[in-house]
Amino acid sequence: MNSPGHVGDLLLSNSGIWMYRFIEELYPICRSITGEGTRETLRRIALHVPIEIHEVPSGTKAFDWTVPKEWNVRDAYVRNKAGDRVIDFRKSNLHLLNYSIPFRGKVSLETLREHLFTLPGQSELIPYRTSYYKENWGFCVSQCLAEALQEPEYDVCIDADLKDGSLTYGECFVPGNTDQEVLFSCHICHPSLCNDNLSGIALTTWLARYLQKKNSRFSYRFLFVPGTIGAIVWLSRNEDLVSKIRHGLVVACVGDPGKPTYKKSRRGDAEIDRAVLHVLRTSGSQFTVREFTPYGYDERQYCSPGFDLPVGSLTRTPHGEYPEYHTSADNLGLVRSESLSDSLSLYLEVIDILESNSTYMNLYPKCEPQLGKRGLYRILGGDPNAGEREMALLWILNMSDGKHSLLDIGERSGLTVGCLREMADLLMEHGLLAKSDLVRAR
Ligand code: ZN
Repeated sequence: MNSPGHVGDLLLSNSGIWMYRFIEELYPICRSITGEGTRETLRRIALHVPIEIHEVPSGTKAFDWTVPKEWNVRDAYVRNKAGDRVIDFRKSNLHLLNYSIPFRGKVSLETLREHLFTLPGQSELIPYRTSYYKENWGFCVSQCLAEALQEPEYDVCIDADLKDGSLTYGECFVPGNTDQEVLFSCHICHPSLCNDNLSGIALTTWLARYLQKKNSRFSYRFLFVPGTIGAIVWLSRNEDLVSKIRHGLVVACVGDPGKPTYKKSRRGDAEIDRAVLHVLRTSGSQFTVREFTPYGYDERQYCSPGFDLPVGSLTRTPHGEYPEYHTSADNLGLVRSESLSDSLSLYLEVIDILESNSTYMNLYPKCEPQLGKRGLYRILGGDPNAGEREMALLWILNMSDGKHSLLDIGERSGLTVGCLREMADLLMEHGLLAKSDLVRAR
């Protein structure tokens, strides 16, 4: 498979803009863990990649959980005496408590206030709130708006359905040369919020589209699922194939200008953990690493003890740690095309390592083979990276005893896997090195 360095420059340089535009397109849609908005989002993803859309009926059991009723909204507002919509779902879908039950009627200001959610510390912003598993109606508004409500009575309308239907998720499978899989999972249940997680949807779609055209070692599975319940439902329906998942990442919050953050898998030392850390350490940029915790996105489900999959999460600023998180300020102004393309290049480098992390045998292991007579020593004159590449040759020859992968050698030497792979190819061309599995097969 081609390395990210071989990805068409145009493709990569346009990737940030492409992802940003996709976020822009999906931003107005009112999504939730079920319903038409989520279906519409999946249909739009399906215009770019072939995804299978699954419908799982309400009431279906998934381990300890049950697929909830389906939620759809036609309209929602609070009107004052003059008939003006003082809170209007049409202006922002965040105004409606996500999964609010239908409601109609005139209520006192006091009662209305019991159903309003605000952010007193960020008085201009609308909070994002959900009530999936407890029946309630409500509106989310800025503190300023809530304080401006002074009339004794308001007319409330939540024209919504909460009834038996189904939960919808999308799955894109890209077969590779082996049935061993790499999993990318993103949540698709948030309404008009950009970083969390339209950025994840856009990046995952881009990756799926890109890998369609590649001849890769691994098969790739991309999941577009409602958070928590979607991942649980998927796991409950696919227990037979999870043993094929060799590596995985949960994709979220990849568009903000903060530095990259990697949250390790529950295992902590899985190959995916090591591959991501190698990419971050050799990136030359700042980053943060977090140990696994049983809180966060769907890695919670993939890393539950009954599965314990090697799935980490590569984000930028972690959830809850940027002021715009779960508010109306997580909008098109927060995400940036440069951040999206930077995140994407990290994901592509991780994929490149996973794809190329082979183990080799030095075919001349007794003392160093003579590189000079093969034209391999000091052949790299004028190349500013000559020293690094020569060191890569020496490291590979020394460590290639069938027990150390390129990632092992990269970790020990500080050289990038990309450079090591290039030099391994050169050594193979000169008959000094062979892939371990091929040596064993002889
Ligand atoms: Zn969220």
